[in-house]
Amino acid sequence: MEMFIGGRWTSSGEQVDVRSPYDGRVVGRVPLAGSSDVERAIASAVRGTAVMRDLPAHERSAILKRTGERLMERLDAIADLLSREVGKTIREARAEVQRSAGLFSWAAEEAKRLSGETIPFDAAPGAEDRIGFFLRVPVGVVAAITPFNVPLALAAHKLAPALAAGNSVLFKPTTATPLADLELVRALVDAGLPPDAINAVTGRGSTVGDAIVSAPQVRMITFTGSREVGRSLTSRAGFKKLTMELGGNAPCVVRPSADVSRAAGAIVRGGYAIAGQNCISVQRVLAHSAVYAPLIDEVADRVKKLRSGDPLDEATDMGPVINGAEAERIEEWIQEAVGKGARLVTGGHREGTLVEPTVLADVPLDCRVSTEELFGPVVAFYRVDDLEEIVRIANGVDYGLQSGIFTQDVDEAFWLARRLDAGGVWINDVSTFRVDFMPYGGMKGSGYGREGVRFAMEEMTEIKVIAWRLRAPQM
Ligand code: NAP
Repeated sequence: MEMFIGGRWTSSGEQVDVRSPYDGRVVGRVPLAGSSDVERAIASAVRGTAVMRDLPAHERSAILKRTGERLMERLDAIADLLSREVGKTIREARAEVQRSAGLFSWAAEEAKRLSGETIPFDAAPGAEDRIGFFLRVPVGVVAAITPFNVPLALAAHKLAPALAAGNSVLFKPTTATPLADLELVRALVDAGLPPDAINAVTGRGSTVGDAIVSAPQVRMITFTGSREVGRSLTSRAGFKKLTMELGGNAPCVVRPSADVSRAAGAIVRGGYAIAGQNCISVQRVLAHSAVYAPLIDEVADRVKKLRSGDPLDEATDMGPVINGAEAERIEEWIQEAVGKGARLVTGGHREGTLVEPTVLADVPLDCRVSTEELFGPVVAFYRVDDLEEIVRIANGVDYGLQSGIFTQDVDEAFWLARRLDAGGVWINDVSTFRVDFMPYGGMKGSGYGREGVRFAMEEMTEIKVIAWRLRAPQM
């Protein structure tokens, strides 16, 4: 496939293979952009800001609506690509295409609602003769940099609000899974987006990404990816707006009054989807002694029934992780936890990139499963009864994206919800749930800024005050 620069599909000298994490087959090839490609893309994106500024909201809205429709028309083809390049199951891939189309139709609505407010100048003594309001104006060129695990929907979370708010976009998908993302760019172009409003450059983060991040013409970077890359990027970005959607190691608190079956079902859905490669995957379950054993038993029973294998097989519940190095790392972290005293309830092994869905119990707090982002199909259980202790353990990591609490006790639920460090807390569900229009984002090492179409549009706009000083009219 080709990149989209300056309104044309284009290639460069060097190409890179995109391989299936399941069987290593080549799924497609994309160009490795060079610095001159990035320069041309930036120049085009700058031209795109003028075009977008003059495009009325109803036209932006219509383009976004048509983009969603294009994605739905090509649902099967794009889902097939997604499944092959990410290794996620075909059912997960279809849901991701539908979700991405939904994001564009939601953004089409929000494009029509972007507005400012009047300012009550007469509330200030001496300003009684003034009247005015503020507008939300686009920041200009928004650079969108995205990760491998949910490539299409996370790109939609950036491109749809950026364009709805009247920006132009410079898009860099990850080299690991860029193919469905280029189909998204095609859908935007087919839907009638002015050519300079979208530029898509493929190539490694360390070269292409770096050139984009340090370009002064880029006014905002919206980044989703690892905490480490996010940190290094903020130090190089200079004078730009930044939204950082980084990693997590989400806790799930299960109290004595909880419905154990309901919690077990949600933990399995939330801990093993996309083979656990989800920033809001359930990673640590802090369960009370009264429910600890039955909860682990029920989770383990359900996990043993998960079918892992070929992502394109409709019957597969869990595909591979993204590559062999990641599979090895996950296995090593499991072994480290077991070496320090954790009990392996089920799983723990791997075959190539297929990591067995794993349940660990009695996990010590000083291993990487407890302290870092695991990003694999492993859920760790901790027996914790005391509420203060739960808060201490749940918050004792450098992440804070989303959390879950299972309890029938409303007072306990709110006591915990107020204290957990997280951008979102679910009561009687797990961290993994998200609707695409709610405010979403992290605290601490999980980042800052919020996504969720309207909230992303706020991040991607600046406030401009326009006001008059009035004179008494001639009577
Ligand atoms: P990653 O390695 O951080 O890469 C993310 C993106 O950054 C890729 O496009 C990558 O390009 C690019 N990049 C790498 N080095 C760069 C640099 N020096 N300058 C600019 N860009 C650079 O993340 P990943 O492994 O793809 O994704 C997994 C991570 O994303 C996990 O930590 C996960 O928690 C996080 N995530 C967070 C959210 C959220 O909403 N908070 C959602 C999903 C995932 P190349 O890959 O082409 O080199």
